[in-house]
Amino acid sequence: MAAIAYPIPDDVTSVLADLDPFLEAEVLRRHRDHHEALSDPRHRYDAEGRYTPEVQQLIREVRTAASSAGFFNLAVPVGMGGRGMGYLAYYSAWEHIKRRCGAHNWLGTYVLSHWAFGPSRVLEQLSPQATTDVLPDLVAGRTSMSFGLSEPDAGSDAANLRTTATPDGDGWRLNGTKIWTTNVTFADWILAFAVTDPARAAARRGGISAFLVPIDAPGFRVEEIILLNGEIGGVEGRSTFTDVRVEPWQLVGPLHEGFSLAIMGVSLGRVYNAARAVGYARWALDLALDHTATRVTFGKPIAEYQGVAFPLADAAMQVHAAHLMGINAAALLDRGERAIKELSMAKCYAVQVCLDAVDRAIQTFGARGFRNELGLMEAYHTLRAINVADGTNEILNRTIFQRLAAGDRDL
Ligand SMILES: Cc1cc2nc3c(=O)[nH]c(=O)nc-3n(C[C@H](O)[C@H](O)[C@H](O)COP(=O)(O)OP(=O)(O)OC[C@H]3O[C@@H](n4cnc5c(N)ncnc54)[C@H](O)[C@@H]3O)c2cc1C
Repeated sequence: MAAIAYPIPDDVTSVLADLDPFLEAEVLRRHRDHHEALSDPRHRYDAEGRYTPEVQQLIREVRTAASSAGFFNLAVPVGMGGRGMGYLAYYSAWEHIKRRCGAHNWLGTYVLSHWAFGPSRVLEQLSPQATTDVLPDLVAGRTSMSFGLSEPDAGSDAANLRTTATPDGDGWRLNGTKIWTTNVTFADWILAFAVTDPARAAARRGGISAFLVPIDAPGFRVEEIILLNGEIGGVEGRSTFTDVRVEPWQLVGPLHEGFSLAIMGVSLGRVYNAARAVGYARWALDLALDHTATRVTFGKPIAEYQGVAFPLADAAMQVHAAHLMGINAAALLDRGERAIKELSMAKCYAVQVCLDAVDRAIQTFGARGFRNELGLMEAYHTLRAINVADGTNEILNRTIFQRLAAGDRDL
C-alpha cells in the first residue's frame, strides 16, 4: 500500500529494486559467512583498535562490487565516472540500504559512496594529475579517503581552523591537528582543510584550501584511534600534520576557496544522515512490529496492549514525517534550490525522532532489545552520535532560525 503520493521517479524506484538482490549477495551473505570477524569486537579490531586486515578486505570487496554494479557512484557526477543521479536517488538509496541492512549488517555502509570516504561532487575539481592518478581507484572502490575538517578548536565553528598550509616553493607545508575524522584509521587519503591565507580566514572571507594527502605521507600520523560507546576499536581518529609537503596537484578546487567544498561535503552528509536515520528507524519499527505479534504475556500477544502499541504508532507517525521531509529536501536540491532551511530541518528532525523510534523498539523487546545480535543498541548509538555529526541539532536550529529571520518563511 502506498504511503506517499509524491511520484518517485522510475529511475529511482528501479535502483531500489536492484539494490535488494545486491544487498543479499554482497552484504548480508558476507555478514553470515564472516559473522565472527564482522560482529565480534574481539575479532573485528586489532590490538591497536583498527579494523583487522580481514575486515578491511571485506569492506574493500563490498566497495568494489558496488562500484561494478553501479551503486557505489550513483550520485557521483558523470564527468568523474559516476552515474550522475540526483539527491533524491541518493537519499532514497541510503534509506533503503539502512532499512534492509539494519545496524548490525554494517557493511551496507560501503555500498554507496559518501563524501567522507569516497568519490562525490566534492572532488569534482581535482587537478588533472589527481584525476588520472587518484580518482580511478577511488571510483572503483579499490581505495578510500577521509574528510579532515574538524579540529580540536573547530567543530561547530568549522571555519576556525588552526591547521596551516604555508607556501613552500611551488607547493605547501601542512601543520596542524585533525580530530573525529571518520575512516582515517584505514583510508588511503585524507582530504585536509587548511588555512592558506590567514588574514582572509580570520575575516571569514575565504583563505581556506583543501588538499588531498596520502595517509603514508611523511609527517602525517594517526595519533589516536578514538574509542566511542564502550567499543574496543573504532574508525574515528585524531591525526597530526608535521611539515607535510603537498604539491600543486594535491590542491582540490581553487586556492583559498576550499571552505565551500567543506560546506558541500557537510550538506551531502546531512542528506545521508537524514536518510540513514529514517532507514534505521524503519528497520527498528519493522522488527518491533513483528515482535508484538509473537511475544505473549498474560495470555495475549503484546500487540494487544495499548501501552505497547501506541508508542510504536506514535513513532511511525514521526518517522513518516521525517521521511517526507527527507525526500522533499532532496527533491528541492534536485531542482537546483539550496534548500538550506529544509535540509537542516530534515536532518535535525530525522535524527531526533528516529533515535526515539529506535528507543521505543528497544523497549518493545524488553531485555532482548539490548542483545548484540539484534543490533538495536548499535543503531541507537549511531543515531545518538549523528545528533552531533554534520551539524549538531543546536547548530541546525540556529541555521533554521537564521533563514526564518531573513524572511525565508515558506513552510
Ligand atoms: C561519530 C562522529 C563522526 C564524525 N566524523 C567527522 C569527519 O569524518 N570529519 C570531520 O571533519 N568531522 C567529523 N565529526 C565532527 C563533527 O562534525 C563535530 O563533532 C561537530 O561539528 C560538533 O563539533 P564539536 O564536537 O567540536 O562540538 P562543539 O562545537 O564544541 O559544540 C559543543 C556543544 O555546544 C553547542 N554549540 C556550539 N555552538 C553553538 C551555538 N552557536 N549555538 C548553540 N549551540 C552551540 C553544540 O551544539 C554542542 O552541543 C564527527 C563527529 C562524530 C560524533
